[in-house]
Amino acid sequence: MAVEEGTLAGSTAVVTGGSRGLGASYARALHAAGARVVIADVQVVEGQALADALGERARFTHLDVTDEGAWEHLVAETVGAWGGIDVLVNNAGIANSAPIEHFSRAKWDAVIGVNLTGTFLGCRAVVPTMKSRGEGSIINISSVEGLRGSPSLHGYTAAKFGVRGLTKSLAVELGADGIRVNSIHPGFIDTEMTTRIDPAVLPIPLGRGGRPDDVAGVVLFLASDASRYVTGAELVVDGGMTVGIGHR
Ligand code: NAD
Repeated sequence: MAVEEGTLAGSTAVVTGGSRGLGASYARALHAAGARVVIADVQVVEGQALADALGERARFTHLDVTDEGAWEHLVAETVGAWGGIDVLVNNAGIANSAPIEHFSRAKWDAVIGVNLTGTFLGCRAVVPTMKSRGEGSIINISSVEGLRGSPSLHGYTAAKFGVRGLTKSLAVELGADGIRVNSIHPGFIDTEMTTRIDPAVLPIPLGRGGRPDDVAGVVLFLASDASRYVTGAELVVDGGMTVGIGHR
C-alpha cells in the first residue's frame, strides 16, 4: 500500500543510525511523507548534512544508542521541541563475523550492544511519552539473520533474533496503551554494510539485490495509520530470498 505525501504531517519520528544507508533512506521517506524527523547517529558530518539538506522539520542529534543518558537527552530535547515522539525507528546497527573459535568477547559485546541493547534502550526511552499520548509506533530493524542461522555471524544473528523477540514481548505489553511494535527483516540491501557481498550470487527470486528505498516504503507503512491493526508482526523485505532457500 502506498503511503501518500502528507500522510505523516504533524507527527514526529526518530531514526537511529539515520546518517547514512538504510536509516538515511527512512529519514528521507518519513520527511517526504510530512513527518518531523530526528536523525540520531554517531556519524555527525553525514547526519548534519542530511538534516541540513532536508531543511525544515529535520534535525540531527548525536546519539550513541548504547548510552542511556544520551537517550534521555534525545527524548527530552525532542519532546521539548516538537511535543512528543510518534514513531521510533531502531535502525542503528553494526555487523561482524568470525568462526566461533575466533569470535572474541569484544566482538560479541559490540554487536549485541549496538543492535540489541541499543534497541532495548530506545524502546524504553520513548515509551513514557508514547503512553502519555496513548499512541505510537516502534519499528525495530532486525534482518533475515533474525530468522535463520548463518555461519560466522554468531553475534549479529543472536542480536537480530533478540530484536525480533523483544518486539513480540513489547507488542503484547504495550498494545493496551495504543503503542504498536513491529520488526522489519531486510535481506541483502546495497549499503556500506554489504559492500563485500555480490548480490548476483544470492538466490533472490525478484532477481536483484535490494536498495534502501525498497525498505523505506515498509517503514512508512508501519509508521502510518495504514498499519493501525498491525502489531507484533515481522515483515520480511528480501525479494523472496529466504522463502526460496526454504528457511521459512
Ligand atoms: P550502515 O553501516 O550503512 O549504517 C549504519 C548506521 O548506524 C551508520 O550511520 C552508523 O554510524 C550508525 N551507527 C552504528 N553504531 C551506532 C551507535 N552505537 N549509535 C548510533 N548510530 C550508530 O548499515 P545499513 O546497511 O544501513 O544498516 C542499517 C540497519 O539495517 C542495521 O541495523 C542493519 O543490521 C540492518 N540490516 C541491513 C541489511 C543490509 O543488507 N544492508 C540487511 C538486514 C538488516
